[in-house]
Amino acid sequence: MKNLTIKAIVIAALCLTFSCGRQTKDSGKSGKNDKAGISEQLILKTSDDVIKELKNGNKRFVENRLINTDYKKQIELTKTGQKPHAVILSCMDSRVPPEIIFDQGIGNIFVIRVAGNIEDVNVLGSMEYAVEHAGSKLIVVMGHNHCGAVTGAVEDIKLGNLTQLVGQIKPAIKSDIKDPDIIDQTAKSNVLMTIGDILNRSEIIHELVHDKKVAIIGAFYDIETGIVTFME
Ligand SMILES: [Zn+2]
Repeated sequence: MKNLTIKAIVIAALCLTFSCGRQTKDSGKSGKNDKAGISEQLILKTSDDVIKELKNGNKRFVENRLINTDYKKQIELTKTGQKPHAVILSCMDSRVPPEIIFDQGIGNIFVIRVAGNIEDVNVLGSMEYAVEHAGSKLIVVMGHNHCGAVTGAVEDIKLGNLTQLVGQIKPAIKSDIKDPDIIDQTAKSNVLMTIGDILNRSEIIHELVHDKKVAIIGAFYDIETGIVTFME
């Protein structure tokens, strides 16, 4: 009896020890790229590769098999520099954290967040730094469903500086106010409008996109499922 108890304790201890390695072992199943974030800083050379990794990362997130969660290791890997492969403009909504929903962790993506994922001169400056100086290959403008900022624009709310912010979203309202899909349709059209604004207002980004050195793409996040759909 005593021996059995000791055996059980030893087995339990071994299970605890080895459960730490399980995440790394499972991650190997989903392909070579999936492992890169663990063993080394992920370096991707083309915008197509970056889109592929973001799609894979979102798939890992949805399937609950994240691999880029060893933050201590990622801090170690990035302490002497960063080479983020993408810059993502996303809403400030607490349910839409790009590092998590794309399973990128620390050091792989620049993230700019503002209510309604709209651009302004500071956002453009940050993006220009990312693509021109830091070598990011992809700009993603990501909206989401049930967006509070978009709802504010549709409902014409007035509140301090927020009035200006929602005012910038208003030109994206294309549907009739009675349309039950007006919020999500406006959020999608706001993404496309923002992409147009970025290309119109940043000569640097316009040129890099024109020369196919950088790509810009819209995306839409579903807060009910965790799924990101790219607007290709
Ligand atoms: Zn939002």
